[in-house]
Amino acid sequence: MKITSANFLTSSPDLERCPESELQEFAFIGRSNVGKSSLINLLAGRKDLAKVSSTPGATRLINFFVMNQGWMLVDLPGYGYAKVKKDSRQQFQRAVSDYLAQREQLSCVFVLVDSRLTPQAIDLDFCDWLAVGGIPFVLIFTKTDKSKAGKVKANVEKFLEALSERVEGEPRYFMSSTKTGKGRGEILDFVDQVLKA
Ligand code: GDP
Repeated sequence: MKITSANFLTSSPDLERCPESELQEFAFIGRSNVGKSSLINLLAGRKDLAKVSSTPGATRLINFFVMNQGWMLVDLPGYGYAKVKKDSRQQFQRAVSDYLAQREQLSCVFVLVDSRLTPQAIDLDFCDWLAVGGIPFVLIFTKTDKSKAGKVKANVEKFLEALSERVEGEPRYFMSSTKTGKGRGEILDFVDQVLKA
């Protein structure tokens, strides 16, 4: 799929204030600093659609972008950082879980996982939570240019193995690098397939 337009629509603090729309939504989520903003910019073919943030935890809103006037890219707040105060952490975690569990237009969640790391409990727990809720998700292993290919491969295999102990069936997965552009075509083609299904 070629991206011909990518426009910021709105930010919502909770499910109730998410925009009314009939477009199918594809949501992106992962640990803070996993490379989510960079990946969204890569997919959109824009340098600054999503802000590449240096303050972990700064973006706590659900951001909506209309792509090709035909689908919605949803940028969810990152999870798993300690710097946010407990109250506001609970508040936005509820917003995210409400969105994921109840948003009718949601077609698929892209869970971003840092390919440099061995399996992290927080990522596995999150995938588990999605699977239990019957929320469709696929994985994107990010920053694949940052480690040796063998290490990336080993981390991916370990992650899938750890996940298989908790979740039935192997999720589809992609590898990405915003440095080389790896993954862009495959991820956009996947979105295209889901839209056409
Ligand atoms: P976010 O917090 O998940 O939105 O992460 P960012 O997109 O802000 O990225 C965090 C840091 O990792 C930034 O310094 C990015 O430039 C860097 N980064 C993100 N993706 C990649 C990648 O694929 N390769 C490399 N080398 N660096 C990346």
